[in-house]
Amino acid sequence: MSEQNKIPYKIYLNENEIPKQWYNVRADMKNKPAPLINPGTHEPMGFDDLRPVFCDELIKQELDNDTAYFDIPQEIRDFYKMYRPSPLVRAYCLEKALGTPAKIYYKFEGNNTSGSHKLNSAIAQAYYAKNQGLKGLTTETGAGQWGTALSMACAYLGLDLKVFMVKVSYEQKPFRREVMRTYGASVTPSPSMETQIGRKINAEHPGTTGSLGCAISEAVEVATTNEGYRYVLGSVLNQVLLHQSVIGLETKAALDKYGIVPDMIIGCAGGGSNLGGLISPFMGEKLRGEKDYRIIAVEPASCPSFTRGKYAYDFCDTGMVCPLAKMYTLGSNFIPSANHAGGLRYHGMSPILSQLYADGYMEAVSVEQTSVFEAAENFARTEGILPAPESSHAIRVAIDEALKCKASGEEKTIVFGLTGTGYFDLVAYQKFNDGEMTDYIPTDEDLAKSLASLPKVD
Ligand SMILES: *Cc1c(COP(=O)(O)O)cnc(C)c1O
Repeated sequence: MSEQNKIPYKIYLNENEIPKQWYNVRADMKNKPAPLINPGTHEPMGFDDLRPVFCDELIKQELDNDTAYFDIPQEIRDFYKMYRPSPLVRAYCLEKALGTPAKIYYKFEGNNTSGSHKLNSAIAQAYYAKNQGLKGLTTETGAGQWGTALSMACAYLGLDLKVFMVKVSYEQKPFRREVMRTYGASVTPSPSMETQIGRKINAEHPGTTGSLGCAISEAVEVATTNEGYRYVLGSVLNQVLLHQSVIGLETKAALDKYGIVPDMIIGCAGGGSNLGGLISPFMGEKLRGEKDYRIIAVEPASCPSFTRGKYAYDFCDTGMVCPLAKMYTLGSNFIPSANHAGGLRYHGMSPILSQLYADGYMEAVSVEQTSVFEAAENFARTEGILPAPESSHAIRVAIDEALKCKASGEEKTIVFGLTGTGYFDLVAYQKFNDGEMTDYIPTDEDLAKSLASLPKVD
């Protein structure tokens, strides 16, 4: 019997196999991620300190380093049923095109209207806000996936939503904006003139195209100055990785059904939420000494926080209003080159993944955007899915690893996260197709400049 008959192209779980609990990898970490600290006093932020900004239940999840499993409320599971379980796909066509003996699988999170994995946490965060009796939420969005996911979740639960969208994306992705407005969100380009911090940034950097860090500051300001509003974030935070563990738990359940054991697990890393979620159950086994896997984070060479950043406390936002987080960072005023089109633009990295990377539990590689789009094109032409540029970072490295297997003859099993689709990224694809895409890698000098702004924390 050929392999193709044994393992289907798509491994689906059924509805009842959607996880009933999220898994908190922190419970199995010996070295816990460093706490968020107050930017003024440098004291760890406790429940009461975080209450003006975040919803109560989410703060509990954020601060809990010990509880291994959190029940997923039934209403969230019911929402998950609209688009989950997501398929785990065996990339037979890609394998054949590459001529590799490697077995490649990808977990596809793009099969919902928001087009990415972000909906997994958006619905959870909106649910807890609604439960607390809040009126609405504020947030930032870069490429627009998070804002779209959150606007779907808020529409479903009847919450108001105000999105600050990084100006360059607001202008480049008018359709993304319209999707959010269709789901009822109001969308403001950031930096705006609607907030104190936005006016300050506009005055200091006239003509700036914005950054995630800057949009975060604006969204936090609006949340903390409006009764009944809280701020939510789509990545980086511990709570977001917790919600995204649904990706990894489903992946593991699907692999286990067929007795497949991956050799390596690959994911793109912006703020670290999809990767953190995908690897969580596997990392748990690794941390408990039960199994070993190679775990590889892939980041853009133009925004290389793991591979060239510093592991230090830093501001999460440009306006320096948020708590400080200890993470691999390029400095909170780092803004990737304007020609960078591949997403994953955030200056910092999830504190959980940062600690795991510092402790040697995972690897990181950086890749240039032209090679990322080559991989995206190859993938689209073989597997049929038009991938998001972010996801294509993982595709690039999965292909590279599969080609190494071709050279060595090893039949390794590769699992990677295909986080989303690229229908709203066609300006970037156009640039690539027209041969106008270039690679800009920040110089050591560029990085030294933004790293010089790190706060001094002992
Ligand atoms: C937001 C996003 C990412 C990166 O965010 P992480 O928090 O690092 O997962 C990757 N892929 C897609 C499609 C996204 O929308």
